[in-house]
Amino acid sequence: MLSAMQVLSKPRTQLATSRRVFMGTRRTPGPEHESDRVGSSVTTGLMKLQSRIRDKVLALDPSSQWHDSVSERKPKMSAAKEPPQQADVVIIGGGVMGWGVAYWLLSHFKGPSPMSVLVLEKDARVEMGATARSVGGFRQQFSRPENVQMSLYMAEFLRDAKKLLHVPGSTVDLGVRQGSYLFLADEDSAATLEREFHMQVAEGAKLDLLSPWQLSERFPWLNVDGVALGRLGLQNEGWFDPWSLHQAFRRKATYLGADFMHAEFKSFQMAKHKDSMNQVSGKRVSGVKVWIPGTACEYEVKCAVAVNAAGPWGGLVGKRAGLPFDHLPVELRKRYVYSFHSNVSPVMDCPMLVNTDGTYVRPENFTGMYLCGRSPRHEDEPPTDDLEVDHNYFTEEVWPSLGHRVPAFLDLKVKQSWAGFYDCNVIDGSPIIGYHHPLVPNLASICGFSGHGIQHSAAASRGLAEMMLSGHFTTIDLSCFAPSDSRLVEEECLV
Ligand SMILES: Cc1cc2nc3c(=O)[nH]c(=O)nc-3n(C[C@H](O)[C@H](O)[C@H](O)COP(=O)(O)OP(=O)(O)OC[C@H]3O[C@@H](n4cnc5c(N)ncnc54)[C@H](O)[C@@H]3O)c2cc1C
Repeated sequence: MLSAMQVLSKPRTQLATSRRVFMGTRRTPGPEHESDRVGSSVTTGLMKLQSRIRDKVLALDPSSQWHDSVSERKPKMSAAKEPPQQADVVIIGGGVMGWGVAYWLLSHFKGPSPMSVLVLEKDARVEMGATARSVGGFRQQFSRPENVQMSLYMAEFLRDAKKLLHVPGSTVDLGVRQGSYLFLADEDSAATLEREFHMQVAEGAKLDLLSPWQLSERFPWLNVDGVALGRLGLQNEGWFDPWSLHQAFRRKATYLGADFMHAEFKSFQMAKHKDSMNQVSGKRVSGVKVWIPGTACEYEVKCAVAVNAAGPWGGLVGKRAGLPFDHLPVELRKRYVYSFHSNVSPVMDCPMLVNTDGTYVRPENFTGMYLCGRSPRHEDEPPTDDLEVDHNYFTEEVWPSLGHRVPAFLDLKVKQSWAGFYDCNVIDGSPIIGYHHPLVPNLASICGFSGHGIQHSAAASRGLAEMMLSGHFTTIDLSCFAPSDSRLVEEECLV
């Protein structure tokens, strides 16, 4: 197997170019064109891919007998009560990332896949994870070029989703609503906002910088006291229905042959990792132990590669492979979302407004309904042992900020609220995507998106699938998100 560090050195600009070429190609929908969708780099044919998988398994453990059975393996469908004895790839977590990876892996193949992919999900209704509780916003405005690229990719993906995720007998409607994000900065943060603006525009984002006067002209309902600068998205921003995206990924991946088990991952089976000289050089995952909820049954599923797509629980899964915390520092963080109604509100031209203190609000529809919230200060992080909503947080923290910035919101009625767990990388606020080389070289992670994973799910899961199939990222170079030591000692927030 190629090491993550070996294969990730391609400069980003070079990859951005290849992405643009790739994205420019429109193709006809339909199962007969599945392989085309992943671009020319994956039209290598079944035989080549089969041998690649074999090579990877052999590289992990030259003495392995695994390769004898891999090519004969056909995925078992989920009606089975017991999990399969083995799968080429086991994905832990059936949220948007897990199903996204399954989809991209399997869509590389024309015809029946020679690769078996098993998705494990502990939560029968998939309601406790981040995906089901997400707000579904997408924006071009990030402080890392790779995040901007992933968002731009998402905007394009959403436009193509009907074709890409089409399955006979069902329709794909992701509830996409084009909108804008408006970030406000005070005197202290204006220079950063402007610096990021130039980087974002250089990456291809369409944005405007607005002075307080211009903001007042454009949004007369906005109080610009204390605002030094605003940054407004002009396209490729808005929101969509996260659950619909999750279901569409799942349906399509299943259609392409992914296997699913309602089962909880419990532990890794580890084996000695032997290098090409047959020397022991560490450890690797040889299988996973799973428990079927509601039964006393535990099973072992052998695998060539395991993927940690456990979202907010990603750090816990990593721990079970013996990864040190600073290699996979992903933890749960509880966030509240409040839905309110306002009679006297901006509605029609209200963007996703992000106040100077991080309080956000956006229209939900055209009947005066809005969603809002804010991440708490570090010292005020609520406990994560339940998903109860703190209503005082709205009254004491969120509402005063909203009412100050948009005086019309001094008059509102909260109609609904919910809490969800952010999948937080507590060190730098950015995702961890790639193999845990050299610690456990056949364990990959895709987690820690820290509140922006829905909009990056298509690009990130595609990137990991590329890494798994070809040993490097081809669409967008995501190597800065690899779980390397050099990255995770940086304390700078990379969002
Ligand atoms: C309130 C809220 C608002 C958000 N708003 C936005 C937004 O506007 N824009 C945006 O881009 N992102 C947003 N996000 C973030 C985004 O939703 C997440 O980054 C994304 O959904 C993460 O997907 P995931 O598949 O990694 O995690 P999840 O959806 O949490 O999926 C992980 C799955 O793994 C399963 N699992 C865990 N452990 C095990 C185990 N041992 N065995 C088997 N299964 C296991 C869990 O049950 C879960 O279903 C928001 C999140 C929240 C909570």
